Amino acid sequence: MTGAVDDGPGTSVSGRGADASRRPGETESFDAMWRGLGPLGRDAGSGGYRRYAWTGADQECREWFRAQAETRGLVHETDRNGNQWAWLGDPLAGDAVVTGSHLDSVPDGGAFDGPLGVVSSFAALDELRRRGAEFDKPFAIVNFGDEEGARFGLACVGSRLAAGRLGVEDAHRLRDADGVSLPQAMEAAGHDPDAIGPDPERLARIGAFVELHVEQGRALDLSGDPVGVASAIWPHGRWRFDFRGEANHAGTTRLADRRDPMLTYAETVLAARREAELAGGLATFGKIAVEPNGVNAIPSLVRGWLDSRAPDQAALDAVVSGVERAAREHAERAGIDIDVVRESFTPVVDFQHALRDEIRLMLEERGGGGADRGGRTVPLLGTGAGHDAGILSASVPTAMLFVRNPTGISHSPAEHAAEDDCVAGVRALADVLEGLACS
Ligand SMILES: [Zn+2]
Repeated sequence: MTGAVDDGPGTSVSGRGADASRRPGETESFDAMWRGLGPLGRDAGSGGYRRYAWTGADQECREWFRAQAETRGLVHETDRNGNQWAWLGDPLAGDAVVTGSHLDSVPDGGAFDGPLGVVSSFAALDELRRRGAEFDKPFAIVNFGDEEGARFGLACVGSRLAAGRLGVEDAHRLRDADGVSLPQAMEAAGHDPDAIGPDPERLARIGAFVELHVEQGRALDLSGDPVGVASAIWPHGRWRFDFRGEANHAGTTRLADRRDPMLTYAETVLAARREAELAGGLATFGKIAVEPNGVNAIPSLVRGWLDSRAPDQAALDAVVSGVERAAREHAERAGIDIDVVRESFTPVVDFQHALRDEIRLMLEERGGGGADRGGRTVPLLGTGAGHDAGILSASVPTAMLFVRNPTGISHSPAEHAAEDDCVAGVRALADVLEGLACS
């Protein structure tokens, strides 16, 4: 699957295009950018990307962004929190229309998560210039720093800092796996760590932020649409379940005499699947710790982490309370002690309805999404994944466009979008930006 990265989007997915009819010049800028960005931070062995914050690979991506800005006559700046901006028009004038995403990656990530949004932003500007569109508002393209949190364990550090949703002291305490602190990493990359912190003046100058992103699921593939609009980022959280029983010899302890927490854990995993299906949400036990963790020992402790997400708070509450109820019932019958601790929680992000509806209307009126829509509406999608747009949404009117991902696979070298769908995404983004920023 990694060959697709070398060859640019679309080459390994056939026949699922949004609209085969291309206009002259439409794909050249996108293709050239994709080829230029493709090799940066790519691991030859895995074929995946390792673009971690404040590393050499990150620096190369930043230089690439700066070059794209300067080639187009945009004014480049890196803000106090390490986010890059490319401005057309006066940043201080206010009511700016901003688009962009991120260039960093998860370990062995795919080519599209983040970069598709940044490349599409520059390509959409090129498209608007081809159309002869006149901007009557300031316009910017942004590359948010450290979105994935692959190095320091916290996602969306650049946008969180700007929005005041990560304290400076907490940021200064972040460390990578080698013990390097965020300030040390910033300093080594030539960025002043003492300058980080809330940037409300900058955010106040933004009238609308639109992030295009590859879909991290199969909703568009199932609906047959190349492009969709985000409705909300689902509420999500992590809960730790501790099941305590009694360690004993696997070879000498009668089944009837055991207090085996693994059995209760197993019942809880099955309950999580059932409750998620009932509520229309997601529930995953993907991490487990066992004591004493011996092949011939009945465990004394099984600790499992539940990740759950759902379209709304009521559904999420239903999943988690249903899983906990089932766990306690099974635990009581088996003589197992149980503790449930919520370790993290992020409430729903409901994207501003006015902007979201305005964008859908623009796309429907202009045949947005690249294809003749035949009177169909542009689909509205919820997502279980976090984004910079979600962080900004409390401070700025924010919207997201998703581009179809035929397998739904993400955070893997197999992540993909067909070339025609990428073109449809650029057209849709250009339509939206023209509607928001141009007369
Ligand atoms: Zn992303």
